[in-house]
Amino acid sequence: MAKGSVAEFMDKIIAKNPGEKEFHQAVYEVADSLMPFIEKNPKYKQAKILERIAEPERVLMFRVPWLDDKGEVQVNRGFRIEMNSAIGPYKGGLRFHPSVNLGILKFLAFEQVFKNSLTTLPMGGGKGGSDFDPKGKSDNEVMKFCQSFMSELFRHIGPDTDVPAGDIGVGGREIGFLFGQYKRLRNEFTGVLTGKGRNWGGSLIRPEATGYGTLYFAEEMLKTKNDTMEGKVVTISGSGNVAQYATEKATQMGATVVSLSDSEGTVYDPKGIDEKKLAFVLELKNVKRGRIKEYASKYGCKFLPGKRPWGIKCDVALPCATQNEVDGNDAKALVKNGCICVSEGANMPSSPEAIDVFLKAKILYGLGKAANAGGVATSGLEMSQNSLRLSWTREEVDEKLHGIMVAIHEQCLKYGKENDFTNYMKGANIAGFVKVANSMLDQGVV
Ligand code: NDP
Repeated sequence: MAKGSVAEFMDKIIAKNPGEKEFHQAVYEVADSLMPFIEKNPKYKQAKILERIAEPERVLMFRVPWLDDKGEVQVNRGFRIEMNSAIGPYKGGLRFHPSVNLGILKFLAFEQVFKNSLTTLPMGGGKGGSDFDPKGKSDNEVMKFCQSFMSELFRHIGPDTDVPAGDIGVGGREIGFLFGQYKRLRNEFTGVLTGKGRNWGGSLIRPEATGYGTLYFAEEMLKTKNDTMEGKVVTISGSGNVAQYATEKATQMGATVVSLSDSEGTVYDPKGIDEKKLAFVLELKNVKRGRIKEYASKYGCKFLPGKRPWGIKCDVALPCATQNEVDGNDAKALVKNGCICVSEGANMPSSPEAIDVFLKAKILYGLGKAANAGGVATSGLEMSQNSLRLSWTREEVDEKLHGIMVAIHEQCLKYGKENDFTNYMKGANIAGFVKVANSMLDQGVV
């Protein structure tokens, strides 16, 4: 797939990180966008900045033993990847999902470095998690697991060192259990995690931030074509945190959201998932922890078992579930059905083949590290509020989030403009790289 210096670079990455296919994919996407820029700026090449960025500063891997409700011992594996601290403390979420392995977390940590740089806030990149599956576990089991996980992780993190947040399978409940255990072990109340509850240091708008930000980014992309979200038909995948608030903001902007999904299939509601129906989804997913097909029975619409939403006709598509959930054929179907804009709430949801289809069709394609950066940006705002020991209003945080998404979009235009077309992928990768690379040059060979 790769050519010239990109191929040589990738050969070394693959040899050094065998079997980590998602990590190879993420590094290739960035290297392919960056190589011409690096060739023109030899200072980065001489200092081997790309080689250093692709090597984590530190990888932690640990045993997480815990007792389930039957009194049986369970053993999971925990990870924290401290990828890059050139511009601030490591920052990035924790993912609890059975598919979690070293390669997946390295891809997410690598992406996070560029994303955090794009937010304009002082945050380095990290990611972590476990192969623990919270699905089907009692609250007590989730708490036991979180306490055991933190009993090792607490040694390595801190408000000025490494500040984890949520991701797939880690929401408000898990952050609460993790924070409680950290506080108990360290005997200190600090902003060591973000996504905290409102009563104990959390920021307003943090739960909404990734989904809202994805829509603010889509709106900015559409503006370049003198268009808006108003009246658009939108397909969304996933039904977790990001999908829920993407649905809310899209609807507030005057669009009609016609799908949500989970790992069992897709619900298709051509009448639109309005405020009342979304309240049902929030209760179903966040409190009852049920499956999205229950939405179809409740509202008498279609459930497409085992299917993703990309075959449904739409103007705007928002992948908000997981990596590689849009393949080349999905992308072709989207373009054929008239989709003009893709804004990614999830991390790396589009496969390389899908990205090729979007770029060739010259549709507005907003990749995750730009379009979903609103979540970590608002985590950065939560860190600032914790340090200042004060809390901003909902309007203040939302305004800052909106301003950051506009600024990210501008950076993508600055580096990604190609005649009449904006290559947001190239723009985001170069813009994210420059700040980190220059900081690394300033700090010497470390
Ligand atoms: P949640 O755990 O809240 O929701 C995840 C959703 O995606 C669920 O509907 C889940 O379905 C579905 N899903 C997960 N894995 C798969 C899979 N392998 N196949 C099909 N569906 C799947 O996570 P979030 O909403 O927080 O995260 C969603 C995406 O957004 C991830 O890519 C994450 O990295 C990214 N992201 C999240 C941020 C945040 O602030 N939370 C910030 C930036 C990016 P099921 O319940 O059936 O597993």
